[in-house]
Amino acid sequence: MKLYFASGNDHKKKEMQALLDNVSLVLPKEEGIEFDPVEDGNTFVENAMIKARALYNIVKAPVLSDDSGLCVEALGGKPGIHTARYGEVEGERKLSDREKYMLLLRNMEGVADRRATFVAALCLMLDENRIYIIQETAEGSIALAPDGTTGFGYDPVFYNNEAGMISALLPEGDKNRYSHRGKAARLMKDLIAKEMEKDGKK
Ligand code: IMP
Repeated sequence: MKLYFASGNDHKKKEMQALLDNVSLVLPKEEGIEFDPVEDGNTFVENAMIKARALYNIVKAPVLSDDSGLCVEALGGKPGIHTARYGEVEGERKLSDREKYMLLLRNMEGVADRRATFVAALCLMLDENRIYIIQETAEGSIALAPDGTTGFGYDPVFYNNEAGMISALLPEGDKNRYSHRGKAARLMKDLIAKEMEKDGKK
């Protein structure tokens, strides 16, 4: 089954495709579709739904979206839903992943409580009225210094408790076992399989 993935992030797609091997994910940009919806929801779930619906309205075909981010205890849950644009000023240049996680480390200087949670909300929109949401987490902490080269985004500064190491030190392919996205996508895979079975019987 072809499933549009409401994202512009190649890394996210790669991780998600490895998890959802029962579908073929297609990014809007791969079909020349301009896709940059205003994510003005107040929660990960709301933003996942905004992305899914925005793309569904264009393609009128099944869509999956992922809204994710890092919630840091000592920062009152920030950057949270604003993780992708952490430290950026509207109208000015975008920051690189490294600039963003180095800013986070600066903001965490001298902070003893380094607990943090990665959150991923997935939204599957099969048609106007069949919408499924799954949100999962990965618990961990903000490292004192960056390490590792795998993954993307904040992986060099996120110590994943379950994995027992910084995410970006996990061998390529292992991250999904412990990540917020991996946990949510495994549930989503079962759901998609059941839906495909139902549709096959129609
Ligand atoms: P979104 O595309 O609006 O969902 O932005 C989520 C942001 O959170 C991304 O741009 C990344 O910076 C960060 N993020 C989400 N998932 C991960 C992950 O698995 N590892 C590292 N950073 C992540």
